[in-house]
Order: sequence, then C-alpha cells, then structure tokens
Amino acid sequence: MRYSYVSHLLCPTCNKEYSTAHQQQLCACGSPLLVQYDLETLKHKLSPQDLIGREGSLWRYHELLPVECSEHVVSLGEGMTPLLSMPRLGEDMEISHLYMKDEGVIPTGTFKARGAAVGVSKAKELGVKELAMPTNGNAGAAWSLYAARAGIKATIVMPTDAPSITRKECVAADANLLLVNGLISDAGKIVGKAVKDGKLFDASTLKEPYRIEGKKTMGFEIAEQLHWKLPDVILYPTGGGVGLIGIYKALRELQELGWVTGKLPRLVAVQAEGCAPIVKAWEEGKAVSAFWESSSTIAFGINVPKALGDFLVLEALYATNGCAVAVKDDEILAELRTVASLEGTFVCPEGAAVFVAARQLRKDGWIGPDETVIALNTGAGIKYPNTIMADVPILQPDDEIDAVHHAK
Ligand SMILES: *Cc1c(COP(=O)(O)O)cnc(C)c1O
Ligand SMILES: [Zn+2]
Repeated sequence: MRYSYVSHLLCPTCNKEYSTAHQQQLCACGSPLLVQYDLETLKHKLSPQDLIGREGSLWRYHELLPVECSEHVVSLGEGMTPLLSMPRLGEDMEISHLYMKDEGVIPTGTFKARGAAVGVSKAKELGVKELAMPTNGNAGAAWSLYAARAGIKATIVMPTDAPSITRKECVAADANLLLVNGLISDAGKIVGKAVKDGKLFDASTLKEPYRIEGKKTMGFEIAEQLHWKLPDVILYPTGGGVGLIGIYKALRELQELGWVTGKLPRLVAVQAEGCAPIVKAWEEGKAVSAFWESSSTIAFGINVPKALGDFLVLEALYATNGCAVAVKDDEILAELRTVASLEGTFVCPEGAAVFVAARQLRKDGWIGPDETVIALNTGAGIKYPNTIMADVPILQPDDEIDAVHHAK
C-alpha cells in the first residue's frame, strides 16, 4: 500500500496545478498553494478502524500527509496530544462540555512542531539543504530543531522581543539566528531578500505548502479522539492562521472520505485587541484583511499584523458560520491563572486567549450551554515564564508557616 496519497498542489486563487515532485513556493499568481490527495482512491483503501494500533503520533495519518517515502520522515514523536475535559473551568464559564486540546506537551513545547515535522520532512524528501524563515519565535525554534535532526541548515530571523527561550532553542540547534529590531513582518522582508537568488529555501508561513499539512493533523486528532463525531465549536488563537486553515482542510478531507458526516464545527479565530486584523475584516464582512499598524500583545505567537493566508482563514470562518473575537491582554493574564488553578493546566497566553473568548461567547449566547467546545492550547505555559509574577513570602530556616501565609 502507498505511504502517501498526495496527488498535486492546487492554487485556491487561480486553480493552477503544480507537481509535488519539486521544491515549490507560492503560485505564480502570488497565492499560497494547498496540497491535494487522491481521496477517491483512498476512500476504498483506508477506514478509521485501520488507524487503531498505529503509533501515537501525527504520522498515524501518513496516507493524508505529503511525505511519499517513510524513510524521509523526521520525527521527534509529535502529535496525538491529549484532549482533556475541563469540567471545573467549564462549570465556571457555564459550558458543560468544554475540552482543551493540549499542544503544550508536544516536542519544542508548541504546536509549531507539527508544521516543522511535516515541513522539514518534505523539504528533506525534495532535497533541500538550507532553509530560511521569519518567525515570532516558536516556529523558528521548532524548525531549527527539526532541521538539525534532518541535517538541514536553518537561517532564522525573529524580532528582538520574541520570547527569549525560543532564541536559545535556535542557538542550541546551531541555527544561523538573527534578530531584527521590528515585527515579524520586518523579519519577513529580510528573509524575502535573502531567498531571492534561490539558494535558500523559503520556509516562511504558507510560502511553502507543507507546514499546513502538519498543522491540519490537529483536526484529524480532534475527530478521532471524539470517535469521529465532530464538536460544535473549535476556538483557535490566530496569527498567520495556518492552524485554522489546516483544521478546516482536515475536516473537509474527512468529510470527503466519509469518515465524518453532518455540519462542520463553527470555527472561531481568536486574536488580541492589540493585533486583530482578522477580527476587523470579519466584522466588516471582508474577504481579506488590512495590515494592522503598530501591533502589540503579550500573546506573541498571534502578533501577526497581516497574514498571507488571511483570505483562507476568513473563508473558513464564513463557511462554518464561525466568528472572530478580540480579547484584552489583561484578561488573557487573568484567565491563564484561572485555567491553571481550576484545572492544573499551565497554558501559554495564546491558549489563555482562547478561553477568554469562549467565556465571552458563552456570555453573549453565541455558544450554547450544552454545546461541545474545543479550545486549542497551542503551547506550554513554561515557555513564557514572565506571564506570572511570583510574589511570595520568604521564610528564614526557623520560621513557621503562620495563619496569614497559610491562608494565602
Ligand atoms: C504561532 C502560534 C500561534 C498562531 O498560529 P498560526 O497558525 O500562525 O495562526 C498560536 N499560538 C502559539 C503558541 C504560536 O506559537
Ligand atoms: Zn494561483
């Protein structure tokens, strides 16, 4: 049996097709390309039961991934993250079936590992020796580490403000790391110049077609973990939007395979008030977003002032009757503590943003009390040590814990 049922690349804007046998970046028209599969054939070859007993990583879905030969797979064991029920937090926000897909336990500590695993594996299969990418930190860390494992050289450009741990991950992996005094969009401009002569493969978000294929596996996993019964709502912290586009793509593929039926979940793009281009576009009913000037938020992974795939994110929101919500940084920080204290889960600020949005949408009645709601926590809280100020008493060796301290 074939390892992958990948067929070709398709431009969602002009419908031009490309082969997956060569290194490919954007379509000639400037649009990102989407990977297509021979689902018609696969439908008769694979069923959900065939997945039972396969390895607990995203490679269990290898027929629906673009790597054609298993020996090119570069893996650190990523995927099949827990889908945790959140009963105490759910009760607190009056959502009786609240779940969290926890990407904090994945290699490199964020779901960027999914995109890196599949993106780097395919790059290796296509003979890439050296790649470059702009990043807000987490993607650079993940791609540096997976590239190291693949024997590919990585050049990473990130803002000086990016979480400092992500710098250290790049340095540990011996990537060529550069910082820029600016935003991810500025890092993107610098990488754009560096890849012009074609020697460096451009691994920027959506400028290569395969990262999204890694991220889409979150959609497969959610469906499988709920025994192929789709939830009502999925909330996702949206920067470049790759995860949301990916989840939507995955669910459509499962529909085509006949593995899921009925309505798709309403997809929710969550952004920070300091950087909400998708929310603004959605509120205005637009098909594309406008560049968000002077963007700023503590949820660094979603500080993306203009996403290349914005039209695909918006399409997914409109097609599923979803919505887009902006939340405040101080609410994110408060929610992060609520989530940890009620459920024992230390989430990243991007993940906390999603819970703020769920709370808000429940209050507005957009989410019903008995709906099944999935919140994506995209990374580990421990990658962001500065989100919590630990102002606590210090004892001398002979001190006792008095009533005041105990009550705290
Ligand atoms: C990159 C990132 C996001 C946003 O992901 P996109 O797919 O680019 O929208 C969310 N959370 C974290 C922790 C991230 O690193
Ligand atoms: Zn095109």
